[in-house]
Amino acid sequence: MRRWERGEAAVSRFLWFGQVAAAKPVTVVEDTDDLVALYIAPGTRFKRVGADPKVHALASRRWRLVDDVWTARTLVLTRPGAAHCILGFWPKDGGDLVTWYVNLEDPLRHSPLGFDGRDVFLDILIKPNGSWRWKDEDEFAQAQHLGLLSRSEAAAIRAEGERVIEDAESSNAWWLQWRAWTPDPFWQTPELLRGWDAVAGTQ
Ligand code: MG
Repeated sequence: MRRWERGEAAVSRFLWFGQVAAAKPVTVVEDTDDLVALYIAPGTRFKRVGADPKVHALASRRWRLVDDVWTARTLVLTRPGAAHCILGFWPKDGGDLVTWYVNLEDPLRHSPLGFDGRDVFLDILIKPNGSWRWKDEDEFAQAQHLGLLSRSEAAAIRAEGERVIEDAESSNAWWLQWRAWTPDPFWQTPELLRGWDAVAGTQ
């Protein structure tokens, strides 16, 4: 496994059944034993499942990827081994990171091109005033109904979310130390690295 240096372009992917369900070019902010931090620039061109609802396409194990453009400046913070990542968003008019989004997913793995995980549908939105709400519960329920997630997996995902909510409700959530972080203004917006669609050997 190679470590990524600050400023390097990498690929962050979600896989399902050994196939790419999303691939985003990212700029590496930090890659250490304690934290993987990635930056996604607005205007970044990425791939995602084209079907809506996505869960049905995933359950069929056959889907088409489409091109899309990422619109929000986004910081992605993942503690290795944790089954979620924390996305930070800036307000439209500038200033510090104030909106946080918990994406529940399998623990991140290093891949030859960056980082792979598996998105498990359920999310939590934490607003600037600290209030929070579950997001995409309907998709999460559908995923269970369609057999993408077992009952025990779903319970573990919900429990992980509840642990993060406890952190969010304490006034010193670990991600708040990133509140004033800003991307290097000289970073270029990366394109997907060649080989982004190759999965063999990364499982
Ligand atoms: Mg999600």
